[in-house]
Amino acid sequence: MADALLAGWGRTSPSRARVLRPGSVDELAAAVQTAGRRGVIARGLGRSYGDPAQNGGGVVVDLTRLRTFDLTGDRLVAEGGASLGELIRALAPRGRFLPVVPGTRHVTVGGAVAADVHGKNHPADGSFAAHVEELDLLTAEGMVRTLRPGEAAFHATTGGMGLTGVVTRAVLRPIPIGSPTLLVETRRCRDLDDVLACLSGSTARYAVAWLDCLSERGRGIVDQAAHTEGPVTAALKGPLLSVPRHMPGGLLNRHTAALFNHLWYGKAPRVSVRSMPLGAYFHPLDRIRDWNRIYGPDGFVQYQFAVPYGEGLKSVVRRIARSGVPSFLAVLKRLGPAGEGLLSFPIEGWTLALDFPAAAPGLPELLDACDQAVIGAGGRVYLAKDARLAPESLPAMYPGLARFREVRALLDPAGVFQSDLARRLRL
Ligand SMILES: Cc1cc2nc3c(=O)[nH]c(=O)nc-3n(C[C@H](O)[C@H](O)[C@H](O)COP(=O)(O)OP(=O)(O)OC[C@H]3O[C@@H](n4cnc5c(N)ncnc54)[C@H](O)[C@@H]3O)c2cc1C
Repeated sequence: MADALLAGWGRTSPSRARVLRPGSVDELAAAVQTAGRRGVIARGLGRSYGDPAQNGGGVVVDLTRLRTFDLTGDRLVAEGGASLGELIRALAPRGRFLPVVPGTRHVTVGGAVAADVHGKNHPADGSFAAHVEELDLLTAEGMVRTLRPGEAAFHATTGGMGLTGVVTRAVLRPIPIGSPTLLVETRRCRDLDDVLACLSGSTARYAVAWLDCLSERGRGIVDQAAHTEGPVTAALKGPLLSVPRHMPGGLLNRHTAALFNHLWYGKAPRVSVRSMPLGAYFHPLDRIRDWNRIYGPDGFVQYQFAVPYGEGLKSVVRRIARSGVPSFLAVLKRLGPAGEGLLSFPIEGWTLALDFPAAAPGLPELLDACDQAVIGAGGRVYLAKDARLAPESLPAMYPGLARFREVRALLDPAGVFQSDLARRLRL
């Protein structure tokens, strides 16, 4: 056990906790049962942006030693600390792929369940939980319970940000793929209407748009992709570049952001079709090790919201463009119908994720105003990315919150599972 200062990927609100790295479920159970007054929370690879995998003054259990997995037939059984990257590397040569992958492969199975992550294929395939056949949850009393879809505890755990217990094992069904490459069509779109039309009309399994939110027109680039048939070879490569440990703050401001977005838009082809390896399409940012340091010591905030189809998306994009607060390339995706996770993020409509330097003047006011616009449009902010939401906004964003609290109280009446996020949002 060691004391450590832990932060999320945005590096904005670190806190100190006692960190344990159990090597077995028994050791994990002992850590949970002896956690003490400030409680305990699980941590995977720390790729959530804010404070959900932190527990200042309490215990954090790092799951990354519990990472074995087994693929038998069509069933993948993985421990909670197995990373999606390791799973992809093992699955691809056997002609299989994970049914849902987020924008980085450095995410654990437990983290993917706890945030109920979504990929570029949500309309076609739903979120991660939709592909979990069963999971083992270590509860507050130190017992492992096997949960299945349809059970309240399962739907409180998927999307429940680690607050119902620790996911020690999950059973998934990978999808068959013909090769570790994708056929990708890239299209440059002159404004937001063009981007939305392109995404709405897409019949590809995977689709994503990169949006320039500094241009009021909301121009962007849409990538659509599908798996191809072909020979199965190595699927993933390591990082190409890494960012130095000590980057000064203030490098990224409205002018550098506008220049970067301009160059990036200008270099994209009007239309192109090419074949790409899985890693290059799904996880381009993983090629730059520690890219989050680019924002300097103050860190950055990722604001990701979802709104139903309608005017909500455009009104938030316009507000951000007019604010003058620098935002770098934003990622826009379509979401299909919501799943059953009580705190799961995806709802049918659009989701936009934007990165802002945390110290940008005017950012708190801008995001508070965006929260209200998102609520007004019937939408919500993603807890896995959040570092600053006010607790009062949560019930309007997550109608399943009251039910989540009931189920959590049954599973963990003494409130053993605690995190900085849970305290900040009074979950
Ligand atoms: C570059 C980048 C791109 C991303 N793209 C996407 C995307 O496209 N779609 C998307 O949905 N998300 C995306 N994310 C967010 C990321 O997928 C989630 O935050 C995910 O939860 C991180 O997993 P982790 O293992 O790092 O968990 P951590 O960040 O360590 O923890 C996240 C939460 O999971 C809980 N948790 C972790 N392990 C367990 C466990 N074993 N049992 C119970 N709870 C546990 C923690 O308590 C915490 O609440 C992205 C993040 C990055 C950095």
